[in-house]
Amino acid sequence: MKRRYDVLVVGGGPGGALAARTAAEKGLSACLIEKRPAIGVPVRCAEGIGKEALKEFIEPDDRWISAEVHGAQIVAPDGTSMTVEQKMAGSKVGYILDRKIFDRELVWQAAAAGADVFVKTRAVAPIMEDGRVRGATVAFCGEDRKVAADLVIAADGIESKFARWCGLDTTVPMRELMSCAQYVLTDIDIDPHLTVFYFGNRIAPEGYIWVFPKGERTANVGIGISGRKSKDGHRARHLLDRFIADRFPRGKMVECIVGGVSVCRPLPCTVADGLIVVGDAARLADPMTGGGIANAMITGRLAAEVAAGCISKGDVSRDALMPYDDGWRLSRMGKSLEKNYRIKEIFITLDDAKLNALIQSASRLDLKDFSVLTLVRELIQRNPKMLLELKSLYSVLK
Ligand SMILES: Cc1cc2nc3c(=O)[nH]c(=O)nc-3n(C[C@H](O)[C@H](O)[C@H](O)COP(=O)(O)OP(=O)(O)OC[C@H]3O[C@@H](n4cnc5c(N)ncnc54)[C@H](O)[C@@H]3O)c2cc1C
Repeated sequence: MKRRYDVLVVGGGPGGALAARTAAEKGLSACLIEKRPAIGVPVRCAEGIGKEALKEFIEPDDRWISAEVHGAQIVAPDGTSMTVEQKMAGSKVGYILDRKIFDRELVWQAAAAGADVFVKTRAVAPIMEDGRVRGATVAFCGEDRKVAADLVIAADGIESKFARWCGLDTTVPMRELMSCAQYVLTDIDIDPHLTVFYFGNRIAPEGYIWVFPKGERTANVGIGISGRKSKDGHRARHLLDRFIADRFPRGKMVECIVGGVSVCRPLPCTVADGLIVVGDAARLADPMTGGGIANAMITGRLAAEVAAGCISKGDVSRDALMPYDDGWRLSRMGKSLEKNYRIKEIFITLDDAKLNALIQSASRLDLKDFSVLTLVRELIQRNPKMLLELKSLYSVLK
């Protein structure tokens, strides 16, 4: 490990990998550090990603695609279900990855582009000079080392501490932190090309249960519930166990993870002097779905592009780095984060009776004939008791 780099990337997830790869491709000396002993494990993810989003960064490869998804099924609390085909589900369907291999592939690509990579290496503190980030102290092979850098890219995920150490407020309100649990279940009856989402305040308060296929008879079966609804006896894992006992009693659990997903608005500012924050560390997971792989890659790449320009001009001040913050905020991704935040805020107010009514009326429609807006208009006509919620939804979508 050198004592100095142009860019130090903290975290070896998709955000960090894209940042390091892009920085190296731009001719910068880049170093990626990951605190875990191996990239990609443990997998804290349901591994779903839209096709378009993925192809922007890497050619799909069977080595790290577990399943191709053709549609999404939505199940109401009363069991009514509707299936949304690929055309309408858009980014909600695509591939189910094998992130153990996928994350590694991304980091290998960063290494092949010229970035240094170190696992089992943890950032323990930023190096600060005159209020500006100048690198990090890292715990490497049992000793603390100082690694100087013109710029640090904090890609340290949902549990991110680096940005906070540098003075940014990264707090996620409890109600906007989804508490998640997931099993890889095998020997279960599923449609291997369909993702299934179960809604209901009893089974998954302010969240949902997902079944994402990983092969013919294997799936990621998981749950996310609002942190404020997580209580003794009703933790995410308890609710998931109940669902599985009911739905897949013969399923065999071969993997079990727990984790958190933020469904809040992004950090108010994602840059500081000598620092850029990307992906989950910047709270950029989609507030509706909890999906954050694509957004981490988008912002990781953008961070390195902006970094390259600023470093070449010798100015990595907050102001000079603002094109990163403005860039993602004004992009399609940034706009969709804001829109989906507002939709989520409407959805979590719906009780089970309203969820049933909505899904029942949508299930009677031939969704091929509807855009999302015309669908909401139709739902308004069919559900006069939900006028308020649906009108708010319509105005967000418009
Ligand atoms: C249960 C669950 C299901 C999910 N399902 C989906 C899904 O289906 N689709 C989707 O798109 N998203 C999903 N997500 C979200 C997705 O996993 C994240 O949005 C995505 O991984 C974010 O990428 P990232 O690079 O920002 O962070 P991460 O992938 O979390 O990577 C951050 C890395 O930084 C490392 N790190 C942390 N601190 C330090 C430090 N001090 N020093 C060095 N390294 C450090 C961590 O070990 C980690 O490897 C899910 C999340 C959960 C919890």
